[in-house]
Amino acid sequence: MASGDVIVIGAGVIGCSIAFELAKAGWSPVVVDKLPASGYGSTSASSAIVRSFYSTEAGSAMAWESTQVWNRWADYVEHADERGAAVYRQTGCLLINGKDDAFVSLIRKVMTDIGVPFESWDVDALARKLPWLDLHLYGPPRHPDEAGFAEAGEALVEGALYFPQAGYVNDPQLAAHNLQRAAEAHGATFRFNAQVSAIRQSNGRVDGVELADGTSLPAPVVVNVGGPHSGGINRLAGVDKTMTVRHRPLRKEVCYLPGPSDVDLESQGLFIADMDVGGYCRPETGNKLVIGSTEPACDDLTWIDDPDDYNTAFSNQWTVQAMRMAMRIPTLGIPGQASGTVALYDASEDWIPIYDRSDLPGYYMACGTSGNQFKNAPVAGALMATLIGTCENGHDHDQEPVLFDLPETGRTLDLGNFSRRRSIHRESSFSVLG
Ligand SMILES: Cc1cc2nc3c(=O)[nH]c(=O)nc-3n(C[C@H](O)[C@H](O)[C@H](O)COP(=O)(O)OP(=O)(O)OC[C@H]3O[C@@H](n4cnc5c(N)ncnc54)[C@H](O)[C@@H]3O)c2cc1C
Repeated sequence: MASGDVIVIGAGVIGCSIAFELAKAGWSPVVVDKLPASGYGSTSASSAIVRSFYSTEAGSAMAWESTQVWNRWADYVEHADERGAAVYRQTGCLLINGKDDAFVSLIRKVMTDIGVPFESWDVDALARKLPWLDLHLYGPPRHPDEAGFAEAGEALVEGALYFPQAGYVNDPQLAAHNLQRAAEAHGATFRFNAQVSAIRQSNGRVDGVELADGTSLPAPVVVNVGGPHSGGINRLAGVDKTMTVRHRPLRKEVCYLPGPSDVDLESQGLFIADMDVGGYCRPETGNKLVIGSTEPACDDLTWIDDPDDYNTAFSNQWTVQAMRMAMRIPTLGIPGQASGTVALYDASEDWIPIYDRSDLPGYYMACGTSGNQFKNAPVAGALMATLIGTCENGHDHDQEPVLFDLPETGRTLDLGNFSRRRSIHRESSFSVLG
C-alpha cells in the first residue's frame, strides 16, 4: 500500500475527524488502526453526550461550536456513508445546582460570556417541570458504607441550569464511520488490523511508523490519536518526558438501566449532570437510562497501566452509581443483573485534552480526551488540521500559540489552552465534566 503524507494512528471518532479535515485541506492521510473497523475503541463505549459547559472558556467555546455541527451532522459528513448518518437527539440538559456550588457559578459565568443559551430554574420550577425528581440535597457524595449515604435532610437543592440545545448522539461508532467515509471521499485511506509498534525517526524528525507485522509506512507527519493507548504511543516516540501534563488510562463503568416506570423518557428524558449525588444520566432508546459517575472525591479512581489488560467485569461501582442516581430519581428500579459497559478514558491531570505538536518535529498528538471529547470531535479534527498545517509551514506553536477561528459561532480559540506543556487548569472540575 502506498504511504500518504500523514499517518493518523487511531480510527476513533477523533482520529477519523482529523483524517477528514486533513483530507479536505489537501493532505493524503493514511489512518492505521489495530482494530477491525473505525470507532471500535473507546468511541464505541461513549455515552456520546453533547453539552456546552466546561470549566474553561476554550473548552466551552469548542463544545458550543461542535453542537452546531452535530445539528447538521448528515450534511457535515457529506452524506458519504452507505449506513446513513448518526442522529443527534436534542434532549436538553440539566446541571443541578446543589448548594453554594462554585462549579455551577463558574459555568453560569462562562456560558454568559460565550453566549450559550441557558435558563436558570429555581427549585419550584424544577419541581413543576420534572416532578419525578427528588430535589433534596444529598451531597457531598458518599460511599454506601459511609454514614449518611442516601440520607437526605430537609434542605433542597437551589435549582438547576437548563441548556435546551444539549443532547446525545445515538450511535457513536456510526459517527466515527461517517467521518471515515467522508474522509475516504476526499482521498484518505484506512488500514485496519494494523498495529503501530514503532515510530520511525531520522534526522531529528518523525519519518513514519512500523507495524507489528513488520510493514514500514514512511511519512513526514504522524498524528497520535490512540485514545487510551496514546500514552504508550508517545513513549514509543520518546516525546512523553518533556510533557508537563500527564494522561493515563482510567477504568470506568457505565450502567444501562430500565428507566423509571412512571416517566416516559422518550418525551421527558434529558441529560442530567448532578454533582450533589455524584453522577450523570441520559435517556436511551427503549425507555432506558445511561448512568455514569462525576468522580466524587469519596470514590477511588482505578488507573490502568496496560490498556490491553484490565478487568472488564462490573464491580460494586456499578451498583453505587445506580444507587446514587436513584436518590435523585426515586422510582428508578435497580435490577439484580448489571448491564452497561466497562471501558477506559484517557484522562489528563486536569481532565482537559491535549491537542498539540510534540518535541519531535512532525509528530503531533490528540490525546488526554478525559471521557469528554466525543462531542468535540468535529472541532478537534479541524483545529488539529490547522495546527499541523501551520506548524509544518514553520510556525513555532510553543512560542506563539496558533489561533483557530470557530466559523459557526464567530469566536477564536487560543490552541495554547490544550498544550502538552500548559500549567494545570486549576478551575477544572477534575471530573469528566472537564
Ligand atoms: C465510557 C465512556 C463514556 C464517555 N462518554 C462521553 C460523553 O458522554 N460525551 C463525550 O463528549 N465524550 C465521552 N467519552 C469520551 C469520548 O468517547 C472519547 O474522548 C473519544 O471517543 C476518544 O476518541 P479517540 O478517537 O481519541 O479514541 P478511541 O476511540 O479510543 O480511538 C483510538 C483508536 O486507536 C487505536 N489504536 C490504539 N493503539 C494503536 C496502535 N498501537 N496501532 C494502531 N491503532 C491503535 C485503537 O484501536 C482505537 O480504535 C466517553 C468515553 C468513555 C470511555
